[in-house]
Amino acid sequence: MIAIEDVSKRYADGTVAVDRLSLQIPDRSITVLVGPSGCGKTTTLRMINRMIEPSSGTIRVDGEDVRSRPVNTLRRSMGYVIQNAGLFQHRTVLDNIATVPRLLGWSKQRARERAAELMERVGLDPAMARRYPYQLSGGQQQRVGVARALAADPPILLMDEPFSAVDPVVRRGLQEELLRIQGELGKAIVFVTHDMDEAITIGDRIAVLRTGGRLAQFAAPDEILSS
Ligand code: ADP
Ligand code: ADP
Repeated sequence: MIAIEDVSKRYADGTVAVDRLSLQIPDRSITVLVGPSGCGKTTTLRMINRMIEPSSGTIRVDGEDVRSRPVNTLRRSMGYVIQNAGLFQHRTVLDNIATVPRLLGWSKQRARERAAELMERVGLDPAMARRYPYQLSGGQQQRVGVARALAADPPILLMDEPFSAVDPVVRRGLQEELLRIQGELGKAIVFVTHDMDEAITIGDRIAVLRTGGRLAQFAAPDEILSS
């Protein structure tokens, strides 16, 4: 469980990106942060893994303040997926995915086996293993990004507009794949999007943010639809 408690972020130039946000993000569910561009979604996500420090307030994971753990330990417990996947361009698909297990000290052989298993899990043809990111479609790259984020089997997955750059049909497939993976693995997923349709499709809980970084609503999709 991630608890965001009365968190605000004011950037150095005075911009208030997040304004007294409180949210409880349960385990084994997909919580979506949705709202227009600039409403503080990315800032909130990055405060969870401490790429950005809050100006005030506290974020806890399983009751423990995220500031109490070394940042590397914290980030190992959180997979991170971004738009355009952010893949290592000079590494093959297999090596992109195997990088994290290797950093954790796994043998090359075991890391590669793990990578192959993850490729299967996210629906990537084994023949893609030796390709480089530029030889893949946008949707395939996103699958690699998801596989890489899952590689260390983190309990938490942070996803920032992961499917926004692909066309609607591929996007739909990726959403379904994510729901399937979530059904099997049961992570705590925090998913950022500006697209309310996407939020309603994949979210168990939806946090609607408005410009200025305030929480407008935090509810299940059916409540959002009927409001
Ligand atoms: P995305 O829209 O994909 O989340 P970014 O995370 O790079 O893109 O930026 C999000 C918003 O924050 C954008 O509106 C961008 O202009 C703004 N932004 C990013 N960095 C800065 C900065 N250093 N100063 C002011 N605004 C910034
Ligand atoms: P979203 O992800 O919802 O598009 P962001 O969290 O990226 O929103 O940005 C929230 C607000 O903070 C925006 O007004 C953005 O321009 C501003 N912002 C983001 N990064 C910075 C930064 N490094 N310095 C100043 N302002 C920033």
